[in-house]
Amino acid sequence: MTDKTLHIVGGGMAGSEAAWQAARAGLDVVIHEMRPKVGTFAHQTGKLAEMVCSNSFRSDDDEQNAVGLLHWEMRQAGSLIMQSADRYRLPAGGALAVDREPFSQFVNDTLRALPNVTVTEDEVSSLPDSGHWIFATGPLTSPALGAAIQAETGAERLAFFDAIAPIVYSETIDMDVVWAQSRYDKGDTEDERRAYLNCPMTRDQYEAFIDALLAADKTEFREGETAGYFDGCLPIEVMAERGRETLRHGPMKPVGLTNAHKPDEKPYAVVQLRRDNALGTLYNMVGFQTKMKYGAQTEVFRMIPGLENATFARLGGIHRNTFMNSPTLLDGRMRLRSRPHVRFAGQVTGVEGYVESAAMGLLAGRMAVADMLCTDLSDVPVTTAMGALVHHISGGAEAKTFQPMNVNFGLFPPVEGLKAGRRGRRDRYKAYTDRAKADWQGWLSKAEAPAPA
Ligand SMILES: Cc1cc2nc3c(=O)[nH]c(=O)nc-3n(C[C@H](O)[C@H](O)[C@H](O)COP(=O)(O)OP(=O)(O)OC[C@H]3O[C@@H](n4cnc5c(N)ncnc54)[C@H](O)[C@@H]3O)c2cc1C
Repeated sequence: MTDKTLHIVGGGMAGSEAAWQAARAGLDVVIHEMRPKVGTFAHQTGKLAEMVCSNSFRSDDDEQNAVGLLHWEMRQAGSLIMQSADRYRLPAGGALAVDREPFSQFVNDTLRALPNVTVTEDEVSSLPDSGHWIFATGPLTSPALGAAIQAETGAERLAFFDAIAPIVYSETIDMDVVWAQSRYDKGDTEDERRAYLNCPMTRDQYEAFIDALLAADKTEFREGETAGYFDGCLPIEVMAERGRETLRHGPMKPVGLTNAHKPDEKPYAVVQLRRDNALGTLYNMVGFQTKMKYGAQTEVFRMIPGLENATFARLGGIHRNTFMNSPTLLDGRMRLRSRPHVRFAGQVTGVEGYVESAAMGLLAGRMAVADMLCTDLSDVPVTTAMGALVHHISGGAEAKTFQPMNVNFGLFPPVEGLKAGRRGRRDRYKAYTDRAKADWQGWLSKAEAPAPA
């Protein structure tokens, strides 16, 4: 092994893509993958890039959908994960669904056949003091490594569950009903005193909401998923089951708030939304983590006054998921601030999904190449899907409430001069994707891109 050896821990979606990008640029790569010696409750094989659950890469529409755009950007960058997905694509309408076994086999065989890639079956359980490393150990990072990361970063900076509250696009919130105010007007600045958006409910609306919550379809935990579950992150429907008033004394309490539209009417309950990104395009529903099925969530949440026409950047959920508080721990190049020779990539950095994880592997691989070969690599433009994601995890997101995120247009800086609201959506998304494609191509052509395969 030379000092041009890049060690990648975890041969999942992110690790495999990072290895491919680095190997194509000429680095020696060692992938440390603990499977099949050490298993997880979700993986079933010892192959690289195993899909643990659904076989979908979601929408492939690169003009109107942010994940479709991410596919496009990855294809342009010669992604191995996308090559395999395209090769083993199954009919699925506008979605990119793949035949999971040959998909994983192809990634596995392609990487193992490269003369400069070695795959070792070992569990890495500490953070190294030297060398060049990418940790891409995913949502099921082994407990020993999880403990080592916590020892480095502080226990509170590594979570083992995501308790995701739904996130709403701010432009779809009805501001004639909702008002901005922090509880008891707390805060030193006007911005802080108006940091929350409040959706008021009458008693009848609250009772109907509780009935709908109790009746809604829920998903169950998978076996082995619940170890260490819950610490102040009960799903709202579980709170409602404990008593009809529980939510009104918890996340929906109406105290310290005055309805700016109807100052004389005291709301019976209030749903609060808090800004979720610096741009102010996304708001999360405070304390609204849930195991309701996605269809049921949309239906139930649109009963909330002010959210009748809301569209969701992501819906809520609670899952086994190891992820770090990346906005405080990683720099813009995905390096651990406290050990810059160690990068993180994939779902453990707080992105969510096969595609997003592979995308962050692609970037981490290229960033490692630039560091190790001392080549220039400019920052990825935040106007691209890649750039929007990496910017979000490395500082754009609110660190205090950081939860894993799918790629979505709410992460992109707005294109000026376009119509807001639902009507202008098609034009707006097209403008986002056109801008992203031009900027991504510009970045790729400037970057010391590896030669095409
Ligand atoms: C139960 C479950 C269901 C999911 N369903 C979906 C879904 O339907 N769609 C979707 O898009 N996403 C889903 N996800 C999220 C999915 O895991 C990620 O999208 C994707 O796999 C993350 O890629 P990754 O490379 O970050 O992690 P992974 O693909 O999990 O790869 C991480 C790799 O690191 C290895 N590893 C862990 N610790 C160590 C260690 N200490 N030393 C060496 N190797 C180690 C693991 O064995 C694994 O191979 C699901 C996750 C879980 C847990």
